[in-house]
Amino acid sequence: MGLTGIQIFKLLPKTNCGECGVPTCLAFAMNLASGKAELDACPYVSDEAREQLAEASAPPIRPVAVGAGVRAFKTGGETVLFRHEKTFYNPTAVAVLVLSDTDATTLDTKLKAWNALQYERVGLNLRPELVALKDVNGDAGAFAAAAKKIAEESEFNLILMTENSDVMKAGVEACAFKKPLLYAATAENVDAMGALAKEKGLPLAVRADNIDGLISLSDKLTGMGLKDLVLDSGARESKQVLQDQVAIRRAALKAANRSLGFPTIAFPCEMAGNLHMETLFGALLIAKYAGIIVLSDFTGASLFPLLLERLNIFTDPQRPMTVTQGIYEIGSPDENSPVLITTNFSLTYFIVSGEIEGSRIPSWLLIMDTEGLSVMTAWAAGKFSGDAVGAFVKKCGIADKVKHKKIIIPGYAASISGDMEEELPGWEILIGPRDASLIPKFLKEMNK
Ligand code: SF4
Repeated sequence: MGLTGIQIFKLLPKTNCGECGVPTCLAFAMNLASGKAELDACPYVSDEAREQLAEASAPPIRPVAVGAGVRAFKTGGETVLFRHEKTFYNPTAVAVLVLSDTDATTLDTKLKAWNALQYERVGLNLRPELVALKDVNGDAGAFAAAAKKIAEESEFNLILMTENSDVMKAGVEACAFKKPLLYAATAENVDAMGALAKEKGLPLAVRADNIDGLISLSDKLTGMGLKDLVLDSGARESKQVLQDQVAIRRAALKAANRSLGFPTIAFPCEMAGNLHMETLFGALLIAKYAGIIVLSDFTGASLFPLLLERLNIFTDPQRPMTVTQGIYEIGSPDENSPVLITTNFSLTYFIVSGEIEGSRIPSWLLIMDTEGLSVMTAWAAGKFSGDAVGAFVKKCGIADKVKHKKIIIPGYAASISGDMEEELPGWEILIGPRDASLIPKFLKEMNK
């Protein structure tokens, strides 16, 4: 059980210097107790106090690292029940199931097809992380060979799924360098699986028949010195799965239940008879509150909506996604190319740059920092005013790159053109379209 806010406060310096982001040590202590702050935010905590506070300052749900390479990820580490209270931190990892008796050629084909399922959105690469290799016949050699192939020939990280500790050992030997998640320790094999995970320093999933069973297994494994656990309540019926996910999250966050303070894994592949229903359950579990979901297959139609939902759910609602302020070249613009300007809200940037690219007219796109606000909002908030935009155009250096002095502003910000003209003597301010989809037509007509 963690310390109370008052107990934590007694260990803090009590100088109320405010460097932790809140005005008083008491407020910081309260935030620490409720998991809304991290101890490192106070630079003045003594080593002695730091030791005592370690447990209280540990996240209520332990972040667990899985995998290696470009698809490595962390799961868990969440501090709130609802995204709008703060943010969710570590996106639900997405896995696909493969059986250990799959022949090498089929596995090869599947890995290549799954690897191709990557999507660029708002400057991010959206892709799944894991292949869950399931032992179906106790053949340790086949299990190890498949694990080795997945680990060495694909970017995917692995979940090794077997309850047979000898088969698990063979799998671990084949792919330990990829830091796989071992699934699963159960009441029957907990000693052997716990010992293997501890010896190899690997994360271990725990499966029980219900939450009470999970608590006793989790306590046993933490007693053995294991820290990186992933929980499976054993439920496969949708209502029970959802109830268990919520109960585990609530117990960890609201009751500081350390036995349940770990990320969860759920299996839409075992909850439905077809990929459409699986995808639906996957969507539900991304929102509430699975750390990892396992599907029976990846197709573009099933995976893309899940990855997009995940991006939305795990985006910080208090911090808009932004791109860096500056001059962006689209195509290979030269000194005669048109100059456009917009705000640094990611979505605005990607829509506008996409439309310019689609026009096939090489252009200069100026992106001004408006703290991630869209054109309309930034204009209404005074962050995209004529003075500010004019000053930015002057200092950004675009005048050194073009021979002309024409700049296209978004149609929604037409009213700033007068102030811009005053701020930028000699420049012609052109009002672009309101709707980004009309940019290609606008540029083509201008280019005639
Ligand atoms: Fe107190 Fe530390 Fe915050 Fe300063 S930084 S107010 S000492 S908790």
